[in-house]
Amino acid sequence: MTFDLEKLVRPNIRTLKPYSSARSEYAGLAEVFLDANENAFGSPIGNGLNRYPDPLQKELKARFARLRSVNSSQIFIGNGSDEAIDLLFRIFCRPGIDECIVCPPTYGMYQVSADINDIDVVEIPLTSEYQLDVPNVMAAVNTMTRLIFICSPNNPTGNVMKADDVIEILESFRGIVVIDEAYIDFAVEASFICELEKFPNLVILQTLSKAWGLAGLRLGVAYASPEIISLMNRTKPPYNVSGAAQSAALEALEKRSDMEATTAETIRLRDELRASLGTIGSVEKVFPSQANFLLVRFADANDTYRRLLTDGIVVRNRSNILLCEGCLRITVGTEEENRRLIACLNSL
Ligand SMILES: *Cc1c(COP(=O)(O)O)cnc(C)c1O
Repeated sequence: MTFDLEKLVRPNIRTLKPYSSARSEYAGLAEVFLDANENAFGSPIGNGLNRYPDPLQKELKARFARLRSVNSSQIFIGNGSDEAIDLLFRIFCRPGIDECIVCPPTYGMYQVSADINDIDVVEIPLTSEYQLDVPNVMAAVNTMTRLIFICSPNNPTGNVMKADDVIEILESFRGIVVIDEAYIDFAVEASFICELEKFPNLVILQTLSKAWGLAGLRLGVAYASPEIISLMNRTKPPYNVSGAAQSAALEALEKRSDMEATTAETIRLRDELRASLGTIGSVEKVFPSQANFLLVRFADANDTYRRLLTDGIVVRNRSNILLCEGCLRITVGTEEENRRLIACLNSL
């Protein structure tokens, strides 16, 4: 297949003259900064937050580049993965004209972001094994199809998509293939980042919200070709990642071993929780998971959901979505939280 990035980009984005911020026009080492109407006296809380942050987050990208063995030019950093998803729609999809493909049951933001951008969503459900239905995905592609979203490990099912299926789609689709790897750090399987050089149409989404424990920071990362990353940088709001978020993320990335320890502990507790849930009478099935949650089918999911809530335990009710009938999605908690959950389920 031939991949023509220029042709995929919306005309208004192709010709966009990006906003030129004070900090992008001068990024050198001057001593007196009177160019950006910042407050020279600082803020009530210090921290250098009176200054606008680096619009391109160079220091942080250098850290991610080392962490994932890619070049900084292959990295976009956004205000959560959600910002990257929205930007991909705005760059590649003409409102009211273009389409994307999603494979439910999956993460709800692809649909919401598509709706906001007035883009038709074609749903090709996963198979009964929660794998990609490649023939039907490819059959659904038409001249308006710009994006295909693949979530792996998938939310809410927890499983990883077969690599051969993903590669088949990457090889045969002329648009952009987005692989959302929000949960990749909990999985045995490797990230698709090592395939970036081979596939110019690949975009990988990762986040600090899960394994890194920084959901409150709002920091998502996209890895793609320098050409796609450049389009994302041109289209994003100039200061999309706050200075506070950039410095907190830099601090966190220094502590990779802490993250790896809590990730290993989460995986251990996930497997323990899966075994405990299997012994409960009302549990019909616990699906295998490569993420930090379990999809669990109950004899009466709605009733179980309500009774857990009465006990102060909130889980995610997925029982009314396609292929998840009767299922609750349960995040792995601390040892004590999991014990409370199991005790409560046992008492029902
Ligand atoms: C949690 C999650 C994210 C993270 O989104 P952020 O905006 O980075 O917090 C992305 N994709 C999926 C599938 C998720 O479940």
